[in-house]
Amino acid sequence: MPGLYVHLPFCRRKCNYCDFASFAGKDALIEPYLEALKREAERAKTIFARPDTLYIGGGTPSLLGREQLKKLISLLEDAFGAVKDLKESTFEANPESLTPEKAALLKAAGINRVSIGLQASQNRLLDRLGRLASFEEFVKAFSSLRLAGFNNLNIDLMTGIPDQNPENFMDSLKEVLDLAPEHISFYALEVHEDTTFAAEKVGEAPEAAADMFELAIPVLENAGFRHYEISNFARPGRESAHNLNYWAQGDYLGLGSSAASHMGGLRRANINDPELYIKTAATPEGPALEYSETLTPAQRKAEKLMLGLRKTDGIELADDIFIEFKVRIDKLAAQGLLEVSGRRVKLKKEALYISNAVFREFV
Ligand code: SF4
Repeated sequence: MPGLYVHLPFCRRKCNYCDFASFAGKDALIEPYLEALKREAERAKTIFARPDTLYIGGGTPSLLGREQLKKLISLLEDAFGAVKDLKESTFEANPESLTPEKAALLKAAGINRVSIGLQASQNRLLDRLGRLASFEEFVKAFSSLRLAGFNNLNIDLMTGIPDQNPENFMDSLKEVLDLAPEHISFYALEVHEDTTFAAEKVGEAPEAAADMFELAIPVLENAGFRHYEISNFARPGRESAHNLNYWAQGDYLGLGSSAASHMGGLRRANINDPELYIKTAATPEGPALEYSETLTPAQRKAEKLMLGLRKTDGIELADDIFIEFKVRIDKLAAQGLLEVSGRRVKLKKEALYISNAVFREFV
């Protein structure tokens, strides 16, 4: 089940914690960037069958104007067919740039899922994160999506924000549940180099973040959400098909600066710099790459196992993978971190917060 990812690297302002490949103050590049995307999509369609899912992420895709959004949809449809016929098509939005007109345009274009960033419902925490929209603006944007007819919406929430306490977090969760989204994703704050938070020497709070997350799980389960991946909760049938393909080690194609692709063990990503992406997309060789590598059979097996363990149902292992990792699987099971039943392996609840330490055992 191949997925198509399209990266729009433009943001109005850089958030204090953000180390994604996104840039503020480069709106003048949007038009040439769309031209470059068109070229890359035309080239890709000769090697890439029609996708099942589409994810337009960023950056802030909702920063594009209405005409630019129309151009984006039409360049994708020229190469890959009608968006409305895809199994799932997600558009990432931020509240400050998502107008009711854009919501209506996206719905009419066949987009059937929107993921919208909130992080917290307290405006002082949103300010601390450097987010542009207030909670009230978020609610307006969310309502405009419902009014436009979207019935599959994700909200992002964050744990471990400086000055956030469990009460704040649970208040945010309550506000989110009152809005009745179909999907909720959680992120623990990480402080990366070259961010405002790193310059301010803001510390991470992994234990506080884990405590908040633990409080959220029963509340979400009581509200009818299924905890289906380490950081993701969905109402039944609303799991992200696009992301499930990543976790199944499926093939996907990435278009745009920094976008990663995976095809049968070959992994590559386009160059991060949008200006260089635009320049090189026009050459016969296509966009310059940030990296390109072919996974060895052993790496593919390890990756398959680690990705599968991200899902709370775990993974049914093929014989060769099970045999290759049996000693390590048994050791982690004896430590109470993995549950093994036949060939099915999954993380125990207690291991959800230290999943990276578990995954390191397989590298
Ligand atoms: S809106 Fe998202 S991509 Fe843009 S700066 Fe903030 S966190 Fe980064």
